[in-house]
Amino acid sequence: MTLDTNGTMKQTPYALTINGQRVFSPETGQAINPATEQPICDFPLASRDQLEQAIAAARRAQLAWADTPITERQQMVSKLGDLIEQNQEAFTKLLISEQGKGRAAAEWEIGGSIYWCREVAKQSLEDEVVVRNGDDEIVTRYTPIGVVGGITPWNFPLLLAVWKIAPALVAGNTMVLKPSPYTPLCTLWFGELALQVLPPGVLNILSGGNDLGQWITEHPAIGKISFTGSTATGRRVMQSAAVNLKRLTLELGGNDPAIVLPDVDAKAIAKDLFWAAFANSAQFCVACKRLYVHEAVYDDVARELAAYAATVKVGDGMEADTQLGPLQNKMQYDRVSQLLEDSRKAGLNFLTGGAPTHKPGYFIPVTLIDNPPDDSRCVVEEAFGPVLPLLKYRDVEDVIARANNTHYGLAASVWGRDTAKAEAIARRIEAGTVWINHVHVFAPNIAFGGHKQSGVGIENSLHGLAEYCNMQTVMSKALP
Ligand code: NAD
Repeated sequence: MTLDTNGTMKQTPYALTINGQRVFSPETGQAINPATEQPICDFPLASRDQLEQAIAAARRAQLAWADTPITERQQMVSKLGDLIEQNQEAFTKLLISEQGKGRAAAEWEIGGSIYWCREVAKQSLEDEVVVRNGDDEIVTRYTPIGVVGGITPWNFPLLLAVWKIAPALVAGNTMVLKPSPYTPLCTLWFGELALQVLPPGVLNILSGGNDLGQWITEHPAIGKISFTGSTATGRRVMQSAAVNLKRLTLELGGNDPAIVLPDVDAKAIAKDLFWAAFANSAQFCVACKRLYVHEAVYDDVARELAAYAATVKVGDGMEADTQLGPLQNKMQYDRVSQLLEDSRKAGLNFLTGGAPTHKPGYFIPVTLIDNPPDDSRCVVEEAFGPVLPLLKYRDVEDVIARANNTHYGLAASVWGRDTAKAEAIARRIEAGTVWINHVHVFAPNIAFGGHKQSGVGIENSLHGLAEYCNMQTVMSKALP
């Protein structure tokens, strides 16, 4: 099979990466372009036996990898970024075709993947000397866990894989990583390219379905799972991981509130509010999913948001002027269509959008819902699609309580000219990240993680790196 990504060709079929080899499977899945509903190509579905081979290879490779000086491991991880950069345009086009996002969003993700490889490659955890007193010494050091299992979702397939691979490898672990069956191609290709840099068995990439994910989480030879996906699946991962008390990092769903204070200029912030909610067609764990607007500016914000929405081009990401693509898969399209249908049946008022289109591609129009009741599905659930409820409030205490009235706690934002007032509110929001007058700033040195049922643990920063390590305290004393 040859994949033509508009002029840049990957000449060979997609393969699993196991023990330094490109490996195929008799069982295959088919990657679909969500903008056209046309097949892109087949990809291998790993068998249980192939998973065993990958885990055995990762175990064999791990001790030598951990013994490799960290500077060499860092160099190799940085080179993984070079490999993406050498194929940047082809990765961008492949991501647009398999995920559906627009070009700017794909460029952001591929550029981010390069950047994260290079920046995480500069990180390390130094030994902590607790006591050094003559011959008495107490030192706490960070040791690798062993074999790490990574499992990723379909909204940012390559970037979220890199967020796991780079720190796991820098910390001296080896890895078996499974991308989502909806978006396996960029990750499989990355695994194949990595063969040019990494010793065999250090990074194994296996595509497959949810069953493969479950086998990984249950496997007793895996010491840690780093999972990004829905809260429902995260719960299952935690249960399976109990088998051998695996370490866990879970980055899960969210229902992020944004609070707009009465002193804003609605026209000035409409564009930023729009992208806070709808970037990546709202298939973003940290999308603003509930927009609370003070009654003094509610009508202005609603009008300006609808006006801005009318200027945004929704279409096939391969077209240069497309700003928002389709939903990534049929399952998600059906879910969001049903949410719209239920909202209509409940008599809710649509400020714009509301009806799925019936042309090819999983397109849902940008939809703004006018002040629905707090217990509406579109307020309570994570839509993970371009449906945003605008909710009116009068009292600050009331809006903080409403914003926190969810089992999620991923991120939030507060918008107001009086930044001191906005910050006082931000500090009372139960969420891992709160932005003030902007959103979606991430960096390799900024800790990111969810409160409540949005997650366990941290990605990025030295806190994230530490999650790929055990802590070992060595205490020594001289004999007389
Ligand atoms: P999902 O939970 O359906 O699937 C995620 C991954 O888990 C896939 O690779 C899937 O094959 C695998 N999987 C499914 N069942 C499994 C099981 N029983 N055991 C092990 N693995 C299993 O999530 P999705 O639909 O791909 O992604 C969307 C969700 O991810 C949203 O809820 C979104 O908010 C969340 N997300 C969170 C973050 C974050 O950083 N917090 C980032 C992106 C997406």
